[in-house]
Amino acid sequence: MRVYVHTLGCRVNQYEAQYLAERLATLPGEGEVHVVNTCTVTALADRKSRKLVAQLRREHPGALVVAVGCGADGARAGLLRAGADLVVGNRDKARLPELLMAYLRGDALPEGGWPSLAEERVRGPFPRARALLKVQDGCTQGCTFCRTWQVRGPLRSKPPKVAREEAEALAAAGHKEIVVTGVNLAQYGRDLPERPTLADLLSELLRVEGVRYRLTSVNPEGLTPELLALFSREPRLCPYLHMPLQSGDDRVLAAMGRAYTAAEYKEKALAFLSSVPKATLGADVMVGFPGEDERAFSRTVELLEALTPLNLHIFRYSPRPGTAAARLPGRVPKAEAARRSAELAGLARRWSRLARQRFLGATLELLVEEQEGGWWVGHTENYLRVGVAESAALARGTIVTVRIVRVEENLTEGVVFDRPQDRGDRPS
Ligand code: SF4
Repeated sequence: MRVYVHTLGCRVNQYEAQYLAERLATLPGEGEVHVVNTCTVTALADRKSRKLVAQLRREHPGALVVAVGCGADGARAGLLRAGADLVVGNRDKARLPELLMAYLRGDALPEGGWPSLAEERVRGPFPRARALLKVQDGCTQGCTFCRTWQVRGPLRSKPPKVAREEAEALAAAGHKEIVVTGVNLAQYGRDLPERPTLADLLSELLRVEGVRYRLTSVNPEGLTPELLALFSREPRLCPYLHMPLQSGDDRVLAAMGRAYTAAEYKEKALAFLSSVPKATLGADVMVGFPGEDERAFSRTVELLEALTPLNLHIFRYSPRPGTAAARLPGRVPKAEAARRSAELAGLARRWSRLARQRFLGATLELLVEEQEGGWWVGHTENYLRVGVAESAALARGTIVTVRIVRVEENLTEGVVFDRPQDRGDRPS
């Protein structure tokens, strides 16, 4: 069977696409199957999922088109209308090979429960230079704007030993950087008998030599003193923290159902930036949440101004059916939300430049990811996206020491550091 897996959405979905691709690679029989790993985080994500299903249906009329994942749970009818033959939700995603075989034989689809993550492993290599390692699924925070927790099932964590074995396989497959991902990493371990923390998990992963680790996104409550201490002493734990903020206003944060205040966020972010060598920060912000007035928005801007994040992901609130926030009063007009989003985007460009300028002259460790427009491009340990002139003899997937020589709005340039002409001016 020829199987093609197409994916949308977050890193957890990307990991699961690899998992499905590895498991479906040996599916017996003739014919063609297209699996669309859908996303339902926003109305736009639902539309994109339906569009991809419809496109595959049109372009491959004889193939089986299967929609799986978050959209399959949250927006099933639309995917069937778009032309999916089979729609499989998150609960059954891991059993897709079994379900496909049953479907093709014309048998009833077997029932199953939410699978444990202890069985979920990828071997790699991933198609990109960075590997992904999913260690957690589900979320009990219940943020009022979010649909993810409604479709991801109960809290499940991968035992540290299982995660370490998976990391060993990924390192053996040639990956030098592994991105540790989950739906809500701050809740890692709560469902396991020994209650390991995220810091315990990372300590176990760090036993695997020759690879560095990056965390995808950690809510503020997940940045414990123990994790902060690990970041401070362990150079192989990449010093970049993507910590969703959503709003800098306590009233809005409470209405969102978030687990922290603006002051707590700021305190954690500053502790990270001041105590971890070479640290940089990324954040998510949502504008136009019901009840966000001009004063609340300016609190968000003031907080971020104090932190100068390297990356800022800006979302405009859109009501999702079935969420508590969709019923809240105080809707912000679309044009006003667009204005706030544009204002933040302009500021984010300035903050990014300021964050990168701090590293002018510094030496950083660059993972070489791809070639693009005359440059080798990749990310440093602190997530600066750096270009090195293509004339340098580099290889994709390797880590090379670079010195940052230029920072512009759309470019951070590095030069390979260990060439003789670069040695004389090593920054102290
Ligand atoms: S923490 Fe909130 S936004 Fe994140 S997955 Fe859980 S409910 Fe959704």
